[in-house]
Formats: sequence, structure tokens, C-alpha cells
Amino acid sequence: MQDNTIVIQAPAVASKRSTREWQQADAAHFLHPFTDFGALAKKGSRIITKAEGIYLWDSEGKKILDAMSGLWCVNVGYGQNSLVEAATRQMKELPFYNAFFQTATPPAIELAELLAEVTPPNFQHVFFAGSGSEGNDTVVRMVRRYWDILGQPERKVIISRKNGYHGSTMAGASLGGMSYMHAQGGLPIPDITHIDQPYWHEHGHGMDKAEFGKVAASWLEKRILEVGADKVAAFIGEPVQGAGGVIVPPATYWPEIQRICDKYGVLIVSDEVICGFGRTGNWFGCETQGFKPDLMTFAKGVTSGYIPLGGVMVGDRMAKVLIEQGGDFNHGYTYSGHPVASAVAVANIKLIQQLKLVEHVRDDVGPYLAQQFASLKDHPLVGDTETCGLMGAILLVKDKAKNTAFPAEIDIGMVCRGHCFGNGLIMRAVGDRMIIAPPLVMNRAQMDEMMSLIRRCLDLTLADATRNGWL
Ligand SMILES: *Cc1c(COP(=O)(O)O)cnc(C)c1O
Repeated sequence: MQDNTIVIQAPAVASKRSTREWQQADAAHFLHPFTDFGALAKKGSRIITKAEGIYLWDSEGKKILDAMSGLWCVNVGYGQNSLVEAATRQMKELPFYNAFFQTATPPAIELAELLAEVTPPNFQHVFFAGSGSEGNDTVVRMVRRYWDILGQPERKVIISRKNGYHGSTMAGASLGGMSYMHAQGGLPIPDITHIDQPYWHEHGHGMDKAEFGKVAASWLEKRILEVGADKVAAFIGEPVQGAGGVIVPPATYWPEIQRICDKYGVLIVSDEVICGFGRTGNWFGCETQGFKPDLMTFAKGVTSGYIPLGGVMVGDRMAKVLIEQGGDFNHGYTYSGHPVASAVAVANIKLIQQLKLVEHVRDDVGPYLAQQFASLKDHPLVGDTETCGLMGAILLVKDKAKNTAFPAEIDIGMVCRGHCFGNGLIMRAVGDRMIIAPPLVMNRAQMDEMMSLIRRCLDLTLADATRNGWL
């Protein structure tokens, strides 16, 4: 350290204030994502202060089982020292350097190499970003650039799906199929079009599930022909829709999507931001769902959320063209290949390998969750359950026998979610679907604990429904 350097103590952080004081400061200054600012300011945020394993604690000292892995990201669970040490070491050695000036840093190179190792064999290259949304912005730029280089600049249209989630930047929200997002800000941007999702409960009634999978895939072919095959650049989808409500497509869906894309030369983009890094019982969701994408967007589980990082894996078909014929690609982010984020990602991926978390999900807790969720179908409120690896959904219905939904004015999901909050469980509500995606380190005993909390919350929701005459 140089003589003129003043040593400044790190500021004291969090801890000394009461819950009320935190809430007041929060309401005064912090605009939260996807939130009614005014309503939250009145109600007050829940202040989360620490975490360990699969549990969180709030500022009142209440322990909460985190069945959402933060926001689908804390795959290795909280409190993993190897990630903390990797960040600390890298911050001391080289906290930042860019990759613009024909320069690179060892952690970013090491991460690129490790990603090539854990992704399917046709992925040998990566473009780094800071988040999943930025990754999908890169997807739009890269897909269109690819077709430009090949002399087909009219191939611009990207086909996506309703109720899909691809992030919240202009491109991410446009690719996404959330109508309430499109309604704000003049979206989608041009040359993005959406087809219906492969959701059997919405579109497939009376149809065999395998048959429905092929029908849902045929909507893609129909749209390709409507747009004109020579104008379609790519199709993008999540292997299993996450934020849309953990919608697991029939096993016939993705192979048929692959066949259609191959037929018309359309690129396939797998948004692996949730499904990647072991969530579905394979390293990547496309392996579970049986298709071979040209690009894969990743974020969340790549660092288990310990630090922001995202990016796009670029398959050989596109990499060859971009590298050999592309010239400059005029795109990138200050934090593309951030050394600290990369070092944490390397530690995280190595930990997933050492703990054999992918196998743990595939062979042990994934099948166990499937069995446990299936057993919920005897509950009067549960119309159906679905799981894929360590993600799952519970569909709440008004009348099981007739499979009728609750009317729109009764937000049964929010009622159930309220009971979850009250009983120390974080389970999310998407319409009438209660969804979970717990940390991959969860063991069977912890899953039993989660299931008993889920049953209790379903019972409390049923009691409300009975008392209020909703059934
Ligand atoms: C969360 C998510 C994104 C966006 O990632 P951010 O890091 O929030 O920008 C994109 N795609 C999917 C499938 C996601 O779940």
C-alpha cells in the first residue's frame, strides 16, 4: 500500500435499526421491482437479514424455509464459503478489468472453459453479460447479426411464447409473453411475435397429453408459415416455463419444436436462466426436454445468485459464422467477463460438481419431490401437480371433480401465499398455481419439512375457502 493511502474502515452495515426503521427508510427511497410502490410503502417490506442452507431469517428473528431459492437462483444454498472466498480473493487481486481492450482476466477465461465443459458438446463459446435480461438482449443482437452475415438480413423475426419470461429490459420484456409487461412502455419492440404456450390446462382439455404436445408445437409451424419462413430468425423458449407458473410441457413438445425449426432452418434459443445448472436434473433443461439449441441464455444458477452474472452460450453452427466471417460484433457490456463474478461462478460450478448436485436432483430429491407432489392430489383444493427436477407447481381448483377454476375475483393463490408467509415458508403464487424451486442442496428430511408446511398452508387456505363460501 502506498504511503498516501488512507485506510478507511468499511462502514457499519445493517443490524442496528429496528424493523420499523428499516421499513420507513425502505418506503422513503427504495422502488422495488414488479411492485406497486405506493401499496408496499403503506404495508412495509419484510426485511430479510440473514440466511444459511435453505433457510432465511427476517429482522424479527423469524426463520423461513426458502422454497424459491431466493428468486430461482440459490442452487447451492446459502452460506457456501468457497464462493465467498473466491470473491474475496479475486477482489483483493484484481477487482475489475474489462474485456474490450483485447484483454482478458484469468477468472473469465477459466469460467468460459468450465462452461464449455458442463454444457452440451456443441457449445464451445460464451458471450458474457451481467444478467439474464442482458443475455437475452445479446441473443436478439447476435441472432440478427448471424443472419446478416449470411446475407439474409430479412430473417429478423423471433418467435416466442405467451406467458414466457425472458427478463425485463426492452428486448427481454419483448421476447417475454407477459401481456401486463407489454402494456407498459410500448412493447414488444418490432419483429417479435408470440404463439400460445404448451399449457395443457389452458389449451389441451380432452386431449391426450402426448398428442397435445405435438399440437402445441404445430402452432410454431403455423406461425413460421404466416410470417414467411425466410423472415424467421429464431424461436426462443424456456425448457420449462418458470415465472409463468412452472409449466412443464408434454415430453413430445420440444422434440417436435426441434423438428420444425430444423425443417425451416430456424435457430433455437433455450432460455436456461432457471433451468440451467442442475435445476431439472441435468446440467441444462434442454437435455431434460430433449432438444439441441443453437444458443442458451444463462444467469441465476451460474453463480447461485451470490453475485450478478449472465451470458449466452453460442453453439458451433453460429460460432463458426461469427468467428470466421463476422468481423466486429458491435455489442458488449462493461461487466462482460467481470473477474469477481466469474471467480464466484467458477467456485459455484465446481461446488455443484463436488456435491454432485445434478445427480442428487436427478436420482434422489427430484423423484422424491415428484412422488410427494403427486400425493398432494388427494387434497380437496389440488386439481393437479407437476414437477420437473426440483421445480414444481400445485394447481388450486374450486371443484376437483369438475376441474373448475376459482372465479377471477377470488385470488386463491394470494390467499395461500399469505398463509405460507405466516407459517415460515416461501412459496410463490402465479395465478392459481403455487410454485416452488428450492435450493438443490435440499435433502429428504428438509423436503418432508417443506411438504408438511405446504399441507398446512393448503389446509388453512381450504378453511378460508369453506368459511367464506368460495367452494
Ligand atoms: C429471471 C429470468 C430472466 C431474467 O434474468 P435477470 O437476471 O432478472 O435479468 C430471463 N429468463 C428467465 C427464464 C428468467 O427466469
